Parts: sequence; structure tokens; C-alpha cells
Amino acid sequence: MDLKQYFRDIQDFPKEGILFKDITPLLLSPEAREEMLETLVTTLKDKKIDKVVGVESRGFFFGILLAQKLNAGFIPVRKPKKLPYETISASYELEYGQDTLEMHIDAIQKGDKVLIHDDVLATGGTIKAVCELVEKLGGEIVQCNFLMELSFLTGREKIKGKEIFAAITY
Ligand code: 5GP
Repeated sequence: MDLKQYFRDIQDFPKEGILFKDITPLLLSPEAREEMLETLVTTLKDKKIDKVVGVESRGFFFGILLAQKLNAGFIPVRKPKKLPYETISASYELEYGQDTLEMHIDAIQKGDKVLIHDDVLATGGTIKAVCELVEKLGGEIVQCNFLMELSFLTGREKIKGKEIFAAITY
């Protein structure tokens, strides 16, 4: 199965000049979802992951499937003021301004083996902030895991030294 056919290019979304990769065709197909999940876990079978971190909001879809498959806990990383309990936060630069992500302070125990999942690795700002959150709580990042890497945006430069896996690379 060619998983690339389950991603749709949307021109000028969310703003002019951006070519957005839409993952909703993948979500519609149970067969494609299953194949994607199998692809995402290929390098993880013996890694004894304790927690899977999913990044709001498209990182939640496969994040929770991965956690179930790996028999691990699931941790949502969310935009500010969405999580109800005490949080830690990390900020990152956007083209204009900055953004912040939050995680519950008790989500990770020191030494936990953590898999971070998001749908797309683009410029790498998001994943770098998520890595900071995990490491602040003493988690050991086993892999940063994506449906897709937009390699021409060189996001992996921002998380040098971390293991990166992407099911599809553009
Ligand atoms: P970065 O911080 O690496 O520039 O951007 C990654 C974040 O933005 C991810 O959380 C991802 O959901 C979102 N993102 C950026 N570009 C795209 C895209 O083309 N398609 C999708 N689905 N998400 C994108």
C-alpha cells in the first residue's frame, strides 16, 4: 500500500503561500490506519516504552493508537490553559511571535522511556519544545516519531542527537 496517497495537498492553508499536508484521508481508512500504525512501531518493538506523548491536536490520533499498541501510558501535550491540573510549559518561536505548550507535572516519572509522536515534522520548533518538557521531568526520549517529515524545512536540525522516525518523507 502506498501510504502517500492518503495525504492530500491543500494550497494556501492555513494562510497564503503554505502547502498543507492534510492527514484526514488517512484517518478515513481503517486499512491505511492499520498499515500506518504497523509502520510507526517497526523500530519500537523491543524498546519498552513507558509513555507516549501526543502533541495537540493531530498528534493525538496516532499517539493514542501507539500507546495502546505499545502497552504504554498516553500523555497529551496541549496549548496553554487546556490542561486542568498543574502544568510545566515550554515556548517556541513562530514566524510571527511565539507559542507555548503545556504538560501535566506528574505525567512523567524520572527515567521513564518516552516516545514523542506528532503528525508532521516541519521546521522543528514544536518538537523541540516538547522534548524540553519531557526532559524537564526527567524522561528519557527514545524516539521522536512522525507520520511525515517535510525534510526541506530541516526541522531535524533543531533536535540533533535525538532518534527520529518518519513513516513518510517529502
Ligand atoms: P513545526 O513546529 O515543525 O514547524 O510544525 C509542526 C507542527 O505544525 C505539527 O504539530 C503539525 O501538526 C503542524 N504542521 C505544520 N505543517 C503541517 C502540514 O503541512 N500538515 C499538517 N497536518 N500539520 C502541519
